[in-house]
This record gives sequence, C-alpha cells and structure tokens, in this order.
Amino acid sequence: MTETGDTVWIVEHAKGLGFDLCGVVRAEKFPELENTPDWLERGYAGEMKYLLDPRRSDPRAAMPAVRSVIVCLLNYNTEHALSTDATFVPQDGEPRGWVSRYAWGDDYHNVLGERLDALVALLRGRFLEPFEALAYADTGPVQERVLAKYAGLGWLGKNTLLLNQTLGSYFFLGVILTALDLEPTLGAGELPPADLCGSCRRCLDACPTQAFVEPYVMDARKCISYLTIELRGSIPEELREPMGNHVFGCDICQDVCPWNRRAPVSPIAQFQPRALPSAKDASETPSSAQDNSLFLPRLERLLTLRGADFAELFRGSPLKRAKWRGLVRNACIAAGNSNIQRGSGGYARVCDSLKRLAACSDSIVAESAHWALSRIQ
Ligand code: SF4
Ligand code: SF4
Repeated sequence: MTETGDTVWIVEHAKGLGFDLCGVVRAEKFPELENTPDWLERGYAGEMKYLLDPRRSDPRAAMPAVRSVIVCLLNYNTEHALSTDATFVPQDGEPRGWVSRYAWGDDYHNVLGERLDALVALLRGRFLEPFEALAYADTGPVQERVLAKYAGLGWLGKNTLLLNQTLGSYFFLGVILTALDLEPTLGAGELPPADLCGSCRRCLDACPTQAFVEPYVMDARKCISYLTIELRGSIPEELREPMGNHVFGCDICQDVCPWNRRAPVSPIAQFQPRALPSAKDASETPSSAQDNSLFLPRLERLLTLRGADFAELFRGSPLKRAKWRGLVRNACIAAGNSNIQRGSGGYARVCDSLKRLAACSDSIVAESAHWALSRIQ
C-alpha cells in the first residue's frame, strides 16, 4: 500500500485542479450496490438499458486490476434562482421552460473529464511504476454516489442523491479507478458520514410525479429527468400535467432540500447559462440576456427549433442528449401546461408554432403538439 501522505497529496492536487472535494475508497462491493438487481427487477430503470450492466454492482467488475477508487466532486451551482421560487419569472406573459441547473452551461462530461484526466497525469508523475487507471466522468459502469459515500464525501439522501453537509447536492461526481493501492480517506473502523435527513421528507412530498416509491427509492420511469431526457417515445398521458414547465431535467427534489439552502456557488464560468440564439428568421428581438439563455428559455424559441440547426446550437451542451425530437416534444408538453392566455404576449406565435408541429412528420412531436393545442386553445 502507498503511504497516507500519498492520499493527502492526491486530495490536495485534486483541489488544485478545481475539484471541491476528493476522497479515496478501496474498490469493494458496498452494501448499496447489492440492492441494484432488485431495483432493476422491479422495472424502475425504464428504458435505461445501460443500468442493466452487471459491472455496476462491483467496481472490480469494471476493472479487474482495480484496488482503489479516487472520487472527485465538482460543484456546478450558480447564483441563479431555484425552480421552486416563482418570483423571478419575467412577467411578460411569454411561457418559459425549465432546464435543469446542471445543464445550463457546458457539457459536464467535458468539464469534469478534463480535470480527471489532468489528475491521472499528475498521478503518473508521482507514481513512476506503470499502473492502470480509468477515469469516468459519468461515463462508466460504476455507481459514483455509493463510492463517494464510502470515500467520506457525504450520505445518500431520501432523494437518492449524495448530500454533503457543506456543499448540498449541486455537484458532479467523477471517479478514477486505479490499480494503485491507496490509503482510504476513512480510516479502519471509521464510518461514512451520518445520514442527516432525519425526519425531513420535503423531497418526497414535493415531487410532482410521485416518483419516490419510498424514502431512498425512486421509480425512474416517473421521474421528470427520465421523461424529458431518457424516454424516446411519448410522455405517458398521466404524467404530462405534473411535468409542468420542465423541458430538460428537474431540480425540485434538490431545490426543496434544506441542505441546499446555503449551497456555495461555483467559480467555474463554464457552468453559467449558455445563450440560446434567436431563430435566424425570428421577427421578435429578445430584450435581455435572460430572454435567450438556457435559464428559463422562452418556450416559443424551443418550439421553433429546426432539426437542421439542433446539432450546431447544442454542440457541447448536455441538452443535445434529448435530441431535437425530445426537446421539442418536451416544449410542446410545457406549452400545454403553460396556461398562456389568449391575447397575451406570444399567444398567437405559440399557437402557430404548435400548429406547424402538429402537422410535422414526426408522430411523437405531432401528437404532443396536438395535446398542447387541446389545452390552450
Ligand atoms: S427530479 Fe423531479 S421528478 Fe425526479 S424525483 Fe426529483 S422531484 Fe421527482
Ligand atoms: S429534502 Fe430532506 S429528506 Fe430529502 S434529501 Fe433533503 S434532507 Fe433528505
């Protein structure tokens, strides 16, 4: 085994690269990893076939030579308002969608991945014997949250996310699986951080689709994040209205969490909301930066996205995962939930856009647009 000083050195250098926290854990099959098959058997993973990968149940299956896992945490929070605070919504009558906080800026796979690769390069400079190392920025068959818990970075909350007493939960987790035998952050006999959820159940009660089967267990098929990002077909009818104005992901069970009340803000500029340029043939002129960014994007702008422009517009953004069909489908559902009033700003344009989509050749988008029109006309 390497020295304790090596782990301290790794943690310090991870922080030097911009990570907020870092811990080391021995690669083992932790108790929470054993619950995965049962969760899968109940069908809670929906269409997310990658979750069926059996390697996710044990880090040693992901990399046979692994001895230790370095877990790094990167805060993505910005100073912008929460989805649960309606007071900041512009009163211009234009319906707006909600994009999840983590997706406002540059694609975290890149921001996180670059830093993990830099840490691996530093390790190779310190440990001169060749060793295997695999860096995963939410890209590998591992359960980062569980490894993070046992690396001492937090507890798994009733909303199923990793919570940290100081940082809350607005952060990404990246891991480095390594054949190096490193001293774990938690000493022998030392327990991971205690569960501080206590009697709180705000996240469970606030979830608009009742996706939590019980505390600590989520049926992902009902989660708005799954519905808006992972589901390729139509949004189930009974979940459309509870989706509200969400067009990509959902933050509600984090935004209501008391541990996020004082969550610090990240200095990383790449997490600030990206601009969403007006359509090339747009007749209207956005009046402020808020009118054309991924923080509360105008639904009308999303309804007028052209398939041909989508890849360019969302290059390097997490939103590209939803693809044109998914994002426009979601915008239709959000428009149907918008309560936009006849005669208000944008009403005619939203209806015109929905009518055009209702006639388009994509059956899922067309049906979603029909549904929206039936609600607002
Ligand atoms: S992300 Fe939203 S829909 Fe999903 S569990 Fe949390 S509150 Fe519910
Ligand atoms: S809202 Fe309450 S119960 Fe839910 S994760 Fe936060 S502290 Fe735990």
